[in-house]
Amino acid sequence: MHLEQALKEEAARQGFILAGITTPEAPTHMAAFERWLEAGLHGEMAYLSSERSRQRRADPRQLLPQCQSILVLGAPYFPSQQGKGEKSQGLEGRIAAYAWGADYHDVLPERMAKLVVFLEAQLGRPVLSRACTDSAPLLERDLAQRAGLGWIGKNTCLIHPRLGSYFFLAELLLGVALQPDPPFSTDHCGNCTRCIDACPTGCIRPDRTLDARGCIAYLTIELKGAIPEELRPRMGDRVFGCDICQQVCPWNRFAPAAGDPAFAPRPGIPAPDLLGELALTPEAFKCKFKGSPVQRAKRRGYLRNVAVALGNQGDPSAIPALRQALADPEPLVRQHAAWALARIESRRGENQVPQSTQSTRRKPG
Ligand code: SF4
Repeated sequence: MHLEQALKEEAARQGFILAGITTPEAPTHMAAFERWLEAGLHGEMAYLSSERSRQRRADPRQLLPQCQSILVLGAPYFPSQQGKGEKSQGLEGRIAAYAWGADYHDVLPERMAKLVVFLEAQLGRPVLSRACTDSAPLLERDLAQRAGLGWIGKNTCLIHPRLGSYFFLAELLLGVALQPDPPFSTDHCGNCTRCIDACPTGCIRPDRTLDARGCIAYLTIELKGAIPEELRPRMGDRVFGCDICQQVCPWNRFAPAAGDPAFAPRPGIPAPDLLGELALTPEAFKCKFKGSPVQRAKRRGYLRNVAVALGNQGDPSAIPALRQALADPEPLVRQHAAWALARIESRRGENQVPQSTQSTRRKPG
């Protein structure tokens, strides 16, 4: 068996449903990425625009000078089946499917290290390598397309024609020359615009870029400060990330029903009880989300999102918990709780018909 095939089979044994090989040449989407940065569409994610980060993205060899090949891998998480865009139940929020289980940063590097051990055993010599799991500046979807794993859809996700887009990408830079796979050269979005039409904030642009400043994933995870008021009502009940553009994508009809067991939903994570979440102390937050991607938002960001979701749900039974959050030690939480209270009150006011108006209606003329 060829070395490349043996390596891909070992990758499958390690739980990677996708594996393709490419070279460390400059990514073809680098110019588009530079234009995206220059337009400021990355919002406050300054780490994307630093000179050092740009140079590394433009040349993967800067991450591993001896790199001769890149093995691009895909590990499946559980597809979001929570309502397919409908409202969640009661005072529940929603967490994006990729964050239902363990943090991929903790799970995937160990598996990739096993692949290197396998490769070294096959070659009978040490192999220089570097494992990247969204942890180093790489244009990973560009590399994945070039490794033959799928096309980059209008929603900016990498889409595999049989497996959809519910998977993590990871890259193993290797100091060994392997036969690259042919790039994925076709595009299967066609005239479809479902993701563009469904995005509540309209952040998916027709040119296959995304205005991160409006993306609910950015607003709930990456943005550290206050969420712009005009965007809060459009976030609905989403408290960490968003799956809408993947849920509506027809190619996800073919996504595997179950993901990798490491990413299986943990109790109370996919649809958290918002009143309980708003009462999480710093210790309780750490305990509940230990080893979970949700930690990235930190307690103050997560509770900020929870307050916005409660405001959007408009249920007056959330008022006592929101009033209590006005005394939260974090100003960010207090500020968004105040907004949520005002929103609930204003919606309650809209729904209450004044008595004089009611009697006028009962006795027309
Ligand atoms: Fe492409 Fe349609 Fe999927 Fe959007 S929803 S990524 S346009 S196929």
